Amino acid sequence: MNENAITDNQDLNNEPVKSEISENNTDSDAISEDELQRNRFQTYFSEAVESEGPKLTAILNIFLELKNIDGELAEIDEEKGDLPENINIIKSKLESIESKLSTRRTDLSSLEKEKSELLETDKSYEEKINKYDEQKYDVRSNKEYDEIVKTIESLFEEVQKNEIRIKVITTESEKISAEVSELESKYNELNSELQEKQALLDELNEEFKQEETVLTSKRNELSSKLDDESKSLYERINKMHKGEATAIVRKGNCSGCYNSIPPQRVIEIKSAEKIYTCQSCGRILVSEDFSAS
Ligand SMILES: [Zn+2]
Repeated sequence: MNENAITDNQDLNNEPVKSEISENNTDSDAISEDELQRNRFQTYFSEAVESEGPKLTAILNIFLELKNIDGELAEIDEEKGDLPENINIIKSKLESIESKLSTRRTDLSSLEKEKSELLETDKSYEEKINKYDEQKYDVRSNKEYDEIVKTIESLFEEVQKNEIRIKVITTESEKISAEVSELESKYNELNSELQEKQALLDELNEEFKQEETVLTSKRNELSSKLDDESKSLYERINKMHKGEATAIVRKGNCSGCYNSIPPQRVIEIKSAEKIYTCQSCGRILVSEDFSAS
């Protein structure tokens, strides 16, 4: 693959050399001119060998292979559709319902506790009232009688106050209970929807598990051959164009977005000395000649 890329470079540079020699020069001039061109060529050639030429060819190849793998992974994702996203949405809704339910259940139980304490208190007050009621006929003075009556009255007042509070609690409890049962039915509804969707996704995951494992391990192997910069470039573009991070320059057009690429740029892309991305869609561009080789 690397040799092919270098051969392309040679062809590009050899053409003008030949024509200049044959048309414009005498034999003696031709030697020095030829020597000069050879030196120029060697400079270029050795740069290509020693610096980025072959390295980029390898990188572009990896980009192409990664694109094919990511294309297949994207197809699998397509099969799963919105399921994973919907499942996450339902899960977060369930969480929020759960937290509301927990708050409201706590409110409810503290109101119930208060109510039963008030009922207990009232019961003991009523017993006291009954006791004082019997005692008031055994008194030996008016003063004693008045005191007992006063105590009975104040106990009655307490009981009445408690009954008002109990009524308020009952109303509030009914309201919260209705809210809780509404939340519970919403929760159950969403939960069964979740179970359904999760079962579907589990089925699909099972179906594609093997394929995904193979593709992912191939992907990791290829990705590990890339330098950090190339890796992050590819991953960034793959996020935008899932499974289509790399495009082929076909007849001067980007195969990703079909926009045309200037002829000079097409030549530069073919030389594979640098990594070029499409100015319209941002995909990594690989020459059709290169990708065919
Ligand atoms: Zn494009």
